[in-house]
Amino acid sequence: MKIEIIAVGNEVLYGHTVNTNASYLARSMQKLGISPMYMTVIGDDSDVIKEAVQLAMKRTDVIVLTGGLGPTPDDLTKEVVCEILGLSMEIIPEELEKLKQYFEKRERAMTSNNQKQAAFPKEAYILANDCGTAPGCILEQQGKTIILLPGPPKEMKHMFDNYVIPFFKEKVSHYYESIDIKCFGLGESELATRIAPLLGDGEGVNVATYVGKGEVIVRIAAYATEQAVLTDKIDAMKEKIEQCLGPWIIGYNNEELEEKVVSLLLKQHLTVATVESCTGGLIAATLVNCGGVSICFKEGIVTYSNEAKMKYVGVKKETLDSVGAVSEETAKQMAEGIRKATGADIGLSSTGIAGPGGGTPTKPVGLVYIGIAMPQGTEVFKLQLHGTRQENRERTVKEILFRLYKKLQ
Ligand code: ATP
Ligand code: MG
Repeated sequence: MKIEIIAVGNEVLYGHTVNTNASYLARSMQKLGISPMYMTVIGDDSDVIKEAVQLAMKRTDVIVLTGGLGPTPDDLTKEVVCEILGLSMEIIPEELEKLKQYFEKRERAMTSNNQKQAAFPKEAYILANDCGTAPGCILEQQGKTIILLPGPPKEMKHMFDNYVIPFFKEKVSHYYESIDIKCFGLGESELATRIAPLLGDGEGVNVATYVGKGEVIVRIAAYATEQAVLTDKIDAMKEKIEQCLGPWIIGYNNEELEEKVVSLLLKQHLTVATVESCTGGLIAATLVNCGGVSICFKEGIVTYSNEAKMKYVGVKKETLDSVGAVSEETAKQMAEGIRKATGADIGLSSTGIAGPGGGTPTKPVGLVYIGIAMPQGTEVFKLQLHGTRQENRERTVKEILFRLYKKLQ
């Protein structure tokens, strides 16, 4: 099935609105095991819409358009598509009634231009708009399927998920599944080298790598005509990848590293406390993303100044005078200090130069020390990061959580 997605709207064409509709549609289609062949963006111009739809009808079988179903004169999509297909529109009484009720419920006046939203050719399969005024429709004409969806993303998504996906499911004769394996601590090229023989297409299974936020994702996608065969294919490939990348795997699909860490802390009945300098509370904030964390997270403080490092977690003045705040020794004393001060089983610390300024030849921007104090001892890791201030802070959080995760495993 060849598919084209066409986003209609000047605001999208001129870059004021990001074309999230097309990316949502493409991603949703992928979950069904289909994908678009073309993605087009055009303005609110009837000649251009006509040209684009005619071209799409030549090169694809299914055309999904978003935008231009509203009541204003620049909303032209339905009119132009009907003109191309030689279909005439008429007001559909049930649709008009729904529109009237929509406005009545909101105590708003329905203007005459809203009426055109109830007009469809009798050949159309109308898609209800449960979140707004403009219904969409599916037209199956001349061996082509044309699907018209509204522009507002909320309306478009709801309509697609509820009324268009079932329509596609009937047309697709295979099953599709994908799984994302999230890895941390290995660059994309090194990771790809380790799984090189598994990458690409083979026997209905595709393996590809993507760079996520500080992570590298390995995506396994597979097709099969039977669900059981599909599951076997995915499981077999997953096992092979786990054998190659085991130590770097931090989760699957939408699992977050902090969730894995918190779940291990809870299982092992361990508590944690944080003392942060360069991350400014981001380690604590990230842990707090997880529901149920109150059982294992005792407290978190930000000791940004040297005074605070001495006052709250007992970093020694001699240490700060001799090796400075950004040092292995300071990170160690901070992690041990917070552990002692709070009685937590684990103390986490960060101290570094997030940038963009503040670097010196011996302590460049991006130099960060992270400390993990545990009952069995304290370990400090030195990082040399190369991102922006925000990226360095986020990366530091990932690094410390990853190391804690490894220790808890
Ligand atoms: P309306 O009844 O709101 O006029 P419509 O179906 O005519 O709906 P448009 O006028 O094209 O749709 O777009 C309405 C709003 O939806 C735009 O202001 C824009 O913010 C958003 N929008 C339109 N197209 C897209 C797109 N491709 N991706 C993301 N947002 C979009
Ligand atoms: Mg509009």
